Amino acid sequence: MELTLWTYEGPPHVGTMRIATAMEGVHYVLHAPQGDTYADLLFTMIERRDRRPPVSYTTFQARDLGGDTAEMVKTSVREAYERFKPQVMLVGESCTAELIQDQPGSLAKSMGLPIPVVSLELPAYSKKENWGASETLYHLVRSLLLQQVPPPNTDRPDRDPAIRPKANIIGPTALGFRCRDDIQEVIKLLGEIGVDINVIAPLGAKPDDLMRIPDADFNICLYPEIALTTCKWLERSFKQPTVKTVPIGVGATRDFLAEIGEVAGIDVSAALRRSQDDTLGNWDAARISSSANPGASRLPWYSRSVDSTYLTGKRVFIFGDATHAIAAARIATEELGFTLVGIGTYSREFARQVREVAQQHGVEAVISDDYLAVEQAVAEAAPELVLGTQMERHIAKRLGIPCAVISTPIHVQDVPARYSPQMGWEGANVIFDDWVHPLMMGLEEHLIGMFKEDFEFAEGHMSHLHTAPHQTGEPAAAILSGEKATAVAVAEPLIANDDSKEIAPDPGDVVRWTEDGAAELKKIPFFVRGKVKRNTEQFARDRSITAITVDTLYEAKAAIGQ
Ligand code: SF4
Repeated sequence: MELTLWTYEGPPHVGTMRIATAMEGVHYVLHAPQGDTYADLLFTMIERRDRRPPVSYTTFQARDLGGDTAEMVKTSVREAYERFKPQVMLVGESCTAELIQDQPGSLAKSMGLPIPVVSLELPAYSKKENWGASETLYHLVRSLLLQQVPPPNTDRPDRDPAIRPKANIIGPTALGFRCRDDIQEVIKLLGEIGVDINVIAPLGAKPDDLMRIPDADFNICLYPEIALTTCKWLERSFKQPTVKTVPIGVGATRDFLAEIGEVAGIDVSAALRRSQDDTLGNWDAARISSSANPGASRLPWYSRSVDSTYLTGKRVFIFGDATHAIAAARIATEELGFTLVGIGTYSREFARQVREVAQQHGVEAVISDDYLAVEQAVAEAAPELVLGTQMERHIAKRLGIPCAVISTPIHVQDVPARYSPQMGWEGANVIFDDWVHPLMMGLEEHLIGMFKEDFEFAEGHMSHLHTAPHQTGEPAAAILSGEKATAVAVAEPLIANDDSKEIAPDPGDVVRWTEDGAAELKKIPFFVRGKVKRNTEQFARDRSITAITVDTLYEAKAAIGQ
């Protein structure tokens, strides 16, 4: 048993629903108790789809358990086939149905339907949603293509150089993060280098389309959490190479084009050169070049322009699925000049890749699906910006830290009406805006640092957001100590003013702040104060200093800066 309040991923059958809903001509019969239809809302509300997912539930109730629940499976399969006439039927079970072991997949297969039936066995107590989606796609593709697999060691014929290369885009699903618009960007990128699209799957594909997958020269594994297993199988079975770079960020998009060049044996140097162009702040050129030259993102110039100087070194904590977290780390550090102070993922299958990125930045990766562990890690790292999921938005709100969403799980506002990809050149533009937006603007940051007593632009105020987050760095410390109220009470005799809580020692701590030390601490901008406070206290503790003065503060700063 594990006490869970929030979960980053749903059960694996929701992953299957994401594949079935993404496609046409596929129907999913789910052996599940009454009530599991709640998952329909993910699609009709969060993604605002105009129809119910293609899922029939057996919806057994307590009174059915004494009877023949297996018969309910057969009835549902028969009715679903007759009513929806799908080209392929997926059959599986949800968590509760797994316990009663009716083997719905085998039952359905034995019914002699005139269409392929894919039986899914997804262990709901050990695996999660993305894994469920990945397995479903793999079994679906495999079932449909097994007949076509050439004998082992058959070489793939070389592509006729007179014919343009063709690619499959594998991985976009229903309920994926910005899949709808990412695909458009990737299609544009491929168009620019003369690569045709063979099949996009599962989003928008029919089973007939899946049958055409082997016609492509290579596969683009756009969302590895969903597509990697399938791409590896296609690589083994049909000798179709896999493009693994995910084009999120300017550097990654360039690498993506270069990798395709290599895999497809085509010259992409012109596209790479174009992608180096940027507007250089010349707005007339910008107007022309943005229409004449779609192969350039505004991110490089925006992040080089003077207004972005204050972004340099901003401490960022990143959490999400592995693909988006890894991409975000590269953009944050190489393209925006942030400092990575924490990174993690809930995608256990891709923990190794995230650990490698963490190692490059000298931090320890958080591999966890326990949001409390993530909250603790964020509080300890005391970042100035959190890039995460919907969960981190809540965590960051509690800690008073600005946040932007970069990965699922998401709420309805992250399925926007406007065009908002993450991938390709336009994706980088969207990312620049979305990540910088929650931060305090440069001028306001300076002014609040200089004039702390303003009645309106008080500490933590961000006028461009119309809000005044209580960002003092202290909530993070309070969460670490677990005793905010005590911390404030302990501080009161020390400094008798309204801001006393900012310099509260952790309860039970022998280190205390002198009045002059505390006053100096208050001069430090609020968004880094929590970090400075904790570093100084640690510095004092390490040297058995019990009272932190102005001198201790600066000694600690000098020591840590070395
Ligand atoms: S069967 Fe699984 S998904 Fe359905 S309500 Fe129970 S725990 Fe939730």
